[in-house]
Amino acid sequence: MKTVWLNEMTWVEVEEYLKSNDIILVPIGSTEQHGPACPLGLDTYVAIALAEDVALKTGVISTPPIWFGDSPHHLKFPGTISLRTETIVEMVKDIIRSLVKHGFKKIIFINGHKIVNLDALHTAIRYMKEYECPNVFLAVIDPIKLVSAAEIRDFEEHHAGALETSHLWYKFPHLIRKDKLTCEKPDFHNMYSRFVKIDLFAGGDTIDVAWSSDEQKSFTSSGVMSDQTRASPELGKEFHERLVKLIVEFIEWLKTKKILN
Ligand SMILES: [Zn+2]
Repeated sequence: MKTVWLNEMTWVEVEEYLKSNDIILVPIGSTEQHGPACPLGLDTYVAIALAEDVALKTGVISTPPIWFGDSPHHLKFPGTISLRTETIVEMVKDIIRSLVKHGFKKIIFINGHKIVNLDALHTAIRYMKEYECPNVFLAVIDPIKLVSAAEIRDFEEHHAGALETSHLWYKFPHLIRKDKLTCEKPDFHNMYSRFVKIDLFAGGDTIDVAWSSDEQKSFTSSGVMSDQTRASPELGKEFHERLVKLIVEFIEWLKTKKILN
């Protein structure tokens, strides 16, 4: 059986893999509301899709996905399950500790829960790098930081927006409720000042304001925070393929990087 998923391999096969490769991907997402058209697992599904396609193209393997993320602000919507940031930090450290014990030297997280999981992921990898495994290569990949999404769309992207909806639609079309695609645009500038981003991919002067799940439920009844009706599988394909190309380039570079013991 040929698979890229660690959870589908035996320990004997992992031992064999480690004789010629020390790279492993770790997809992480969330289980949080994405409006009436998209499943709660959207962020995890896109992390799975990226990990699987990159692994197939580069010959590396992936751990099973982490289905839970940092999602307290979505908890007013049924089904959302949130881990505290510090829980994720400790979980990520334990995953790294386990993988390092077996001989993995290059551990790459792929974050489908764009932006929000980054606080925990960065805290965990910086800690491990400095205090426990300085000779292990640790990195976090986040689509929002990687792809210049401005080039492939002419709309604003916020939570449950057209771009991440498209990404899911392309790879998991059976999971989209097409008749439920929603356009809802909260008035962020009025509520939290002009320094709060309406487009998550945009640069510019930014101040990060926290809001509670009570506030969120009051400013978006659907849970959508931009125009999801602009989504299409074609857009998802373009977004996905751009991401995969860049991550494959990174992994190919990583294969050549020497790690000191
Ligand atoms: Zn999302």
